[in-house]
Amino acid sequence: MKPFNHGERRKGTVSDEHGAIAFAEKVLAMLGEGRFTTTYKYAVMLGLIDLCLEGVTTNGRAPDSVTTVQLAEKVLRLYWPHTVGFDGDERVLRQSSVGRAEVLTLIVAFRSKQVRDPSASLSRARQVAPAAYANLLREVEWKLVEMPLPRVQQFGALDDPFIYQIGWDPSIRRKEFLDLHGFSNAIRFVGDASDHLVRLAGLLRPLLQRRWAADVARMNGDRIKDAALEDFLFGVDRIALKPVLDELRELQNGRCFYCAGPLKEPQVDHFIPWARVPLNAIENLVVADKSCNNGKKDHLVAAPHVRSWMARLASHASDLEAIAHKASWDQGSAQVLGVARATYLLLPSSARLWLSAKPSAQEFVAADPCDLKLALAG
Ligand SMILES: [Zn+2]
Repeated sequence: MKPFNHGERRKGTVSDEHGAIAFAEKVLAMLGEGRFTTTYKYAVMLGLIDLCLEGVTTNGRAPDSVTTVQLAEKVLRLYWPHTVGFDGDERVLRQSSVGRAEVLTLIVAFRSKQVRDPSASLSRARQVAPAAYANLLREVEWKLVEMPLPRVQQFGALDDPFIYQIGWDPSIRRKEFLDLHGFSNAIRFVGDASDHLVRLAGLLRPLLQRRWAADVARMNGDRIKDAALEDFLFGVDRIALKPVLDELRELQNGRCFYCAGPLKEPQVDHFIPWARVPLNAIENLVVADKSCNNGKKDHLVAAPHVRSWMARLASHASDLEAIAHKASWDQGSAQVLGVARATYLLLPSSARLWLSAKPSAQEFVAADPCDLKLALAG
């Protein structure tokens, strides 16, 4: 068997589809491997998916590599909301079946020293305690380098790097190695792996989240009683969106982003739906009236909306930056643009995109790949 394809990348061919399916099968097998006693493998996979989406170029190509620092930032972001009490209980949920998951312990220690407010966002924490945040990030990076990254792709005794190759010697045992000359922090994707992760993101994300939640439920025994867990771990905190509502509404001159009507009952909407990619950066937030927001739900939107979203990014970059700064909010137009390309450039013309909320029914149109490509070219 020849597991890697180092050949020329092609898009949309039958062999691509087979390649993606074979790849997905292997990811499933990997997740079923029992060697992991913590939830790290899910965090690593979700982090890699997010980095691949964010790195998609104007040609629709996923990145060839990412770094351990970038991944550490993603993993930290994933675990951050997990390190507060669940369901009225102050204790943090266990995420290891043996001992403690060290990444969680690190974050809990950071929170107790630096940001006591459990509702504080990670961006806020970074702003309040930049040095301690940098230190935490480094500790998390080291945990990833030491533990899951060299081991995630092991099947029994077989090491099968079908997603990525690491640039360091997996036997290193001290954090100081990160500073040595010659330590490579690259995580290089093998063959078409990063393209597969982009294409399969919509399928893999809910699967990874569900398995992650199931493992957490198992590790915490009878503390978990209902399906609220998955929402606690991965859901969007709608109340937390309030601080940016007024300023975004002003930026839109009090008009709904989608129908341009005057805003009644304004709501902050994730332009690229949270269920697809949990992306809270200010660039991904728009304000819509209730009926448009309810109609749009988790749908992708038609090219005219993509066009006006791109126009807002171009003409209001500094305003968005100012809003983010004032509210200690995430920002990152390059990342958000990458995700938008990953989401819209690979859509088949059979996809249905939401256009508008009509009193009678929601209006959808067929995706027009050429039009979407033009819209995203800005
Ligand atoms: Zn509207």
